[in-house]
Amino acid sequence: MPPKRLSSSEYAAGLLSGNRVQLSRAITLVESTLASDQALAQEVLAAVLPHTGQALRIGITGVPGVGKSTFIEALGLYVVQTLGKKLAVLAVDPSSPRGGGSILGDKTRMPQLAAHANAFIRPSPSSGSLGGVARATREALLLCEAAGHEVIFVETVGVGQSETTVHGLVDFFLLLMLAGAGDELQGLKRGIMEMADALLITKADQGNEAAARRARGEYQNALNLFPHAPSGWYPPVLLTSAVTGAGVPETWEMLQKYVAQTQANGFFQRRRQQQQLQWLHHTIAQELEARFYAKEAVRAELPMLQQAVAEGRQTPFAAAQQLLNL
Ligand code: GDP
Repeated sequence: MPPKRLSSSEYAAGLLSGNRVQLSRAITLVESTLASDQALAQEVLAAVLPHTGQALRIGITGVPGVGKSTFIEALGLYVVQTLGKKLAVLAVDPSSPRGGGSILGDKTRMPQLAAHANAFIRPSPSSGSLGGVARATREALLLCEAAGHEVIFVETVGVGQSETTVHGLVDFFLLLMLAGAGDELQGLKRGIMEMADALLITKADQGNEAAARRARGEYQNALNLFPHAPSGWYPPVLLTSAVTGAGVPETWEMLQKYVAQTQANGFFQRRRQQQQLQWLHHTIAQELEARFYAKEAVRAELPMLQQAVAEGRQTPFAAAQQLLNL
């Protein structure tokens, strides 16, 4: 028998008490595409909104194999054990193959962290489009904050559009890189490096140390060529190793330094405000488009006009105007 449907205030009360089962259920609700679930989800979000925003939100990206899950487990254990803070790990992976392959945020990829009472790990929603995944993840992040999580990691793969999305969700964006693999091999676009607030060279151990240090110098030089950031922050390059444990406390200290500096100069809040406004306009654009294509008249006229445009009998601009005027 399915569990009884909760009211929005029951969801909110469960979340605010830090109940993990309720948190999971609330995330499932925001991930749902059913209109009735969506309406309830928005009520829950509105109810808990005053209790959100206090977490440090950190995006973590890098190509498959770079060591994301290993590093997330190491930094995550530092956060929950050494610092005694509550952590949530979310993931954005629209291409995530359900039922096969590695899934970002999969608990089995970080078994020690998954077993810790202060850690909450949630795999990527699989709701198809990046836009849908991004919205669900953004709302899941707010729910985790309402449930008292003080640090939130959002993991993604550094090979496509999804890191731009994650960049729009977080306070700090961490790019993991391999030494000596070459930017081409790592599928890295210049744009991703430009978004990074710090670079971490992974696997700086077992004879790989010299190459890692060389890579650090090269990347630091490359970063120095980027235009001066409005945050006043210069992205550093750190070395990490899951074997020796190097780089984990250093990464946390760096994050603290970033927060102190950008809270003092106002950039921290400005970045969040810009993200809020981006979401507003993004949501309006999506909703307008959805309403446009749902219109009876548009649905009736669209195939003929598409045909006319494809055959060069009408310009795309004229056809678009005709549809928009319907
Ligand atoms: P992901 O695909 O980015 O999540 O990468 P994983 O965390 O699964 O790591 C890929 C492989 O690299 C695994 O075999 C890890 O054991 C190994 N690995 C990860 N971090 C390190 C490290 O710091 N040092 C060494 N030597 N190996 C590592």
